[in-house]
Amino acid sequence: MVTRTTRSGPLSLDIIIPAYNEGEMLARLFDRLDFVFSESTLRDHGIRSVTYIFVDDGSRDSTSDIIARRIAEGLSAKLVMLSRNFGHQAAITAGMEQSQADLLAVMDADLQDPPETILDMFQKWREGYDVVYGIRKKRKENPFVVAGYWLFYRLVRLMSEVSFPADAGDFCLMDKKVVDAIRSLPERLRFHRGMRAWVGFRQTGVEYDRPPRIAGKSKYSLHKLYSLATDGIAWLSLRPLKITQFLSFVLFVVTLTCSTTIAIGHLTTRRDDELALWLSLLFVFISLGFSVISFCLYVLSAYVGRSYLEAKARPTYIIQELICGKSVRSEQASGSGPAVPREE
Ligand code: UDP
Ligand code: MG
Repeated sequence: MVTRTTRSGPLSLDIIIPAYNEGEMLARLFDRLDFVFSESTLRDHGIRSVTYIFVDDGSRDSTSDIIARRIAEGLSAKLVMLSRNFGHQAAITAGMEQSQADLLAVMDADLQDPPETILDMFQKWREGYDVVYGIRKKRKENPFVVAGYWLFYRLVRLMSEVSFPADAGDFCLMDKKVVDAIRSLPERLRFHRGMRAWVGFRQTGVEYDRPPRIAGKSKYSLHKLYSLATDGIAWLSLRPLKITQFLSFVLFVVTLTCSTTIAIGHLTTRRDDELALWLSLLFVFISLGFSVISFCLYVLSAYVGRSYLEAKARPTYIIQELICGKSVRSEQASGSGPAVPREE
């Protein structure tokens, strides 16, 4: 169902903020949000209300307590507490299921996505765009992380069958109709920047400098980054599978030709040194064949594993508890297990 929103009148904005062990960050985050989305700024921009949808992704620190306290003090927010750590993408999914506003923004809790940029995105939405994503102009981070992300975006773009913007993460603003379209995608395995690109609509980017983290440390371990990259490629494209099909065919032709040539050469040769050469060649071809087969198995298992997970159709996340501010309506999440909405 497509929902019409007027681009001139006052409208509501939800902001999803996934948080995993971000207790150290929260005081600064609240100050910054209060400053950026002050009443006067909202009035100037024609924004009727802002609701923060915090998703606590199974934190083991005081993240939930701090947020719940702010909600009890009157912050217009919801707190979705997941039953364990389901990962950043699942946390965004949980937040999305809770949104009812005309517009939805997604930002990180560590202030590496500057909330001020959401207002720039909002201007672009007023101009007629349905999706406005942040493009990371400069990353003030560890050079290995910067290089890793650079490679990740180029690789995903190379493999992707839909146009996928470079250096655009999950930081974005979306119209409700885009949110509805993404929510209607049946996959359990969620890759938000890919789904956002896939659904289409009018999209554009705004550039921003990505500052380093002020407190805490990155929750993306090497393993999580690797999963994000491979999930992303598997989500967006069957190209790696097509490459393995091509490689398997090439391997078949080459092996058949070479093994026949080697066998004939080996049977007809009379000299020991030539025999040794043929055997070395045989060894090289067998090793090469094994490498290609191992690579094909690796790609295949990546797809089979994900298909298995999709076939099991387990929920993407499970909500342990839902806390809603007084001014905020609760919405039972469709992709989750039972949750008990509690009003503060
Ligand atoms: N995050 C999450 N679950 C996770 C990992 C991260 O909800 O399993 C949140 C985290 O609290 C932050 C955002 O996702 O708000 C981005 O994570 P992080 O800053 O660690 O990633 P990086 O900026 O280093 O890529
Ligand atoms: Mg970060």
